[in-house]
Amino acid sequence: MILKNFKELSSYLETSRRIVIIGHKNPDGDAIGSTLGLKHYFDKKGHTTQVLMPNEFPDFLHWIPGVETVYRFDRQNNQCVKALSKSDIIFLLDFNALHRVGDDMKNTLSKYENDFALIDHHQQPDDFTYMYSDTSICSTCQMVYNFIEMFDDLDLIDENIATCLYTGIMTDTGSFRFRSTTSKTHRIIADLIDKGAKNDVIHSNVYDANSFNRLQLLGRALSNLQVLPEYKTAFIPLTQKDKESFNYQKGDTEGIVNYALSVKGIVFAVIFIEDVEQKIVKISFRSKGSFSVNQFARNYFNGGGHDNAAGGRSEDSIENTIQKFTALLPKYKNELMNSYE
Ligand code: 5GP
Ligand code: MN
Repeated sequence: MILKNFKELSSYLETSRRIVIIGHKNPDGDAIGSTLGLKHYFDKKGHTTQVLMPNEFPDFLHWIPGVETVYRFDRQNNQCVKALSKSDIIFLLDFNALHRVGDDMKNTLSKYENDFALIDHHQQPDDFTYMYSDTSICSTCQMVYNFIEMFDDLDLIDENIATCLYTGIMTDTGSFRFRSTTSKTHRIIADLIDKGAKNDVIHSNVYDANSFNRLQLLGRALSNLQVLPEYKTAFIPLTQKDKESFNYQKGDTEGIVNYALSVKGIVFAVIFIEDVEQKIVKISFRSKGSFSVNQFARNYFNGGGHDNAAGGRSEDSIENTIQKFTALLPKYKNELMNSYE
């Protein structure tokens, strides 16, 4: 755990400040929940806040309290630049390095001499003026709860804040099932329910939001699934054509990789998603046990993340990317066979 200059930060925040809060590119439930949860908290403390996101986020997150106030850097560039120019301090949530907001936004952010404050649970964070980094915590939302607790302000958590934080903890823990889910997580979740988070509504908003097309795309992905029992590995190729057949919308591929990981005996699961527009193959890695997909993604696919969930990318064709991937497996055979099921 890194807690850098927290005392200085807390005295800095004793005066009302103009605060910009930023999440990572392709924001997920934890990025949206943590930025908005922190925003609602800072608003209650009398600060002026603005949440910025690099780009769009999935439909199943469009109901979160305060989401309508978010500016998108790719669409509302002027408003974003204006908010940044007027800000006193910039909070970075749910990512560890500036490049995770994408090149355009990174270039803009690099021009600001404001202090940056990081709250994040990804490995190997860059250095910022103020830092609260803990890779053992399941979600940035849980860290925002802890952050509010450090200010002795748990009483300020209302239904909006509780709903935001509940959402990110739920999505980043796979609904409280990953190893990162601790008894502390459950105690925090219990408190968030006491403070107004409606657990059934939140689960339903996020997970019962399938379109017919998305389910059909899932069907295609499942029929593309390949299992390599000799490496306890399963992977799914999903081509641009597959996506177009089912009127692909942002977020439609979210979570599909978990089906590959749900095959009995599999400890390493990967989805390769062709993105013709960005000219990349987007890759999601998941594992069970000691096999670190963070290291694997960093070493070979320009990415990273956590030990058991990471992302990466390839600029090669989807066929060549998969070939590169399968050619790497023999090197990891022992590690994979000894990771647990
Ligand atoms: P996903 O596969 O859902 O895109 O990402 C899984 C996890 O890895 C998430 O926590 C995400 O933030 C992180 N992640 C995804 N892509 C990258 C990347 O390129 N670099 C790093 N450091 N983390 C990533
Ligand atoms: Mn997260």
